[in-house]
Amino acid sequence: MSGYVAHGDSYCTVITRDGELPVELIGFGPLPQPGKPIVGVCRNCGQRGTVYEVPPVDPATAAASDAFAEWLADAVNIRMRNPVVGAHATAHQQLLQIHARTEAVTLPGSSWAPPVRVQQCRECRGDGWPCRTLRIVAAGHRHSWPGWREEWSA
Ligand SMILES: [Zn+2]
Ligand SMILES: [Zn+2]
Repeated sequence: MSGYVAHGDSYCTVITRDGELPVELIGFGPLPQPGKPIVGVCRNCGQRGTVYEVPPVDPATAAASDAFAEWLADAVNIRMRNPVVGAHATAHQQLLQIHARTEAVTLPGSSWAPPVRVQQCRECRGDGWPCRTLRIVAAGHRHSWPGWREEWSA
C-alpha cells in the first residue's frame, strides 16, 4: 500500500501496511474525524504533514473508457456466434481480458505536484486506457459494428 502526505506544496510517498496511516498521529491530540484533514508526522521524512487522499479518476475520462469497453465487448461478442470468425473473436476477447483496465497512482515528475490517479492497462502499464493493443483490436471491428469513435484510433 502507498499513502501520500502533503507538506505545503510538496508531497511524500509512504509505503504503509494495511490500515496504517502514512503519518504518525501527534501526542495526545484529538483523534482524526471523518472528512477532516489528518495531520501528523510523516513516516517518510519525519516532518509534520497532512494525509493526502488522491482524488478519483476524472469522471469524464472514466466514462469515455466505459464507452470504449462496452463498444468493444459488444463488437466482439456478436462475432463469437459466427462460426466463420468465432475463433478470431475469441482471441480478441482474451486480449480484452489481458489488457484490462486498472487504476494506479502516479507522481508527476517533481515532488511539487500532487500524485494523481490514472487509468492504465494491466499488461502494458503506461499512461491511459485503452492501450495501443486494444485500439488496434478495436480498429479491426470499426466497420462491422456501429458506434465506432475516431478518438479510439491507434
Ligand atoms: Zn514527508
Ligand atoms: Zn495493453
